[in-house]
Amino acid sequence: MAKQGRTLPAVVQDLVDETHVPITPKRDRPRCGAKTRSGGKCQARAVWDREKNKPRNGRCRMHGGNLRGPTTKLGRAICRVSALLLNARRLARLAREPIEEDTEA
Ligand SMILES: [Zn+2]
Repeated sequence: MAKQGRTLPAVVQDLVDETHVPITPKRDRPRCGAKTRSGGKCQARAVWDREKNKPRNGRCRMHGGNLRGPTTKLGRAICRVSALLLNARRLARLAREPIEEDTEA
């Protein structure tokens, strides 16, 4: 099935996932490099995107930062549309509901 998988040594074969994309071994992945409180550079490995076989943002799991929401034009557009749809549904529901009479006083 794999074009070249059978010729690879077992150790390397273990690193080949089901899509037959070789995964870079942990020891070959770049270091995070963030400035530490002790003045040095963070030695932890960068968080790895296994599908793309590259670092996600070059930083480790401690220094990657918070999620910043959708980053592509398409992602932002989807967010905008779904927010507009939600508001439209809320308005439509309000328009259907009868206005409550004030029964007090
Ligand atoms: Zn780090």
